Amino acid sequence: GQHHVITPDMIDHIATKSFPPCMRQLNDVLRTTHHLKHGGRLTYGLFLKAAGLSLEDALHFWRSHFTKNMELDKFERQYAYGVRYNYGKEGKRTDYTPYSCLKIIMMSIGPGDAHGCPFKHCDTPVLKQRLMAYGIPTQALSEIMDLVSKSHYQIACQRYWEATHNATLETGINHPNQFFEESQKYISG
Ligand code: SF4
Repeated sequence: GQHHVITPDMIDHIATKSFPPCMRQLNDVLRTTHHLKHGGRLTYGLFLKAAGLSLEDALHFWRSHFTKNMELDKFERQYAYGVRYNYGKEGKRTDYTPYSCLKIIMMSIGPGDAHGCPFKHCDTPVLKQRLMAYGIPTQALSEIMDLVSKSHYQIACQRYWEATHNATLETGINHPNQFFEESQKYISG
């Protein structure tokens, strides 16, 4: 397939346009709190890597957010390792693959965690309010909420893709990076 490259300055814009709700949530929490807990750093870091963010840019991206709340030295000591680890540059040096929908849906979520699938893990009123804030039209919103109530999270995500792109998606959604790639493909025609 086509190989995309993304840079830190693009992320907020493409998060709004092309990220699935799980990754948009992680980006929003990172932007507003300047922090993500371990599960979020892993989930979002691997997603961004697969979306085409280089290791250098990933270090820059995480550093610029985290150092709004902590000393540079602390970031370098406690968090830079994790960024490099996601790229297989530390520890077992595995080139870790980004998490699929199924894996994210099955993850356990603790207090303060921002990872997970919003369709599965958000309280209904919170999810509904967020989708409204994202500009999902009423008809699609009620379809999505109906699918969520029947635990059809990935089909709900497909409806979300269709509502945000005003187009039909032939394939289902099984991976956040696939959601992103379908979006980029659609936007660039
Ligand atoms: Fe993310 Fe998949 Fe959930 Fe969509 S269905 S929000 S891509 S985990």
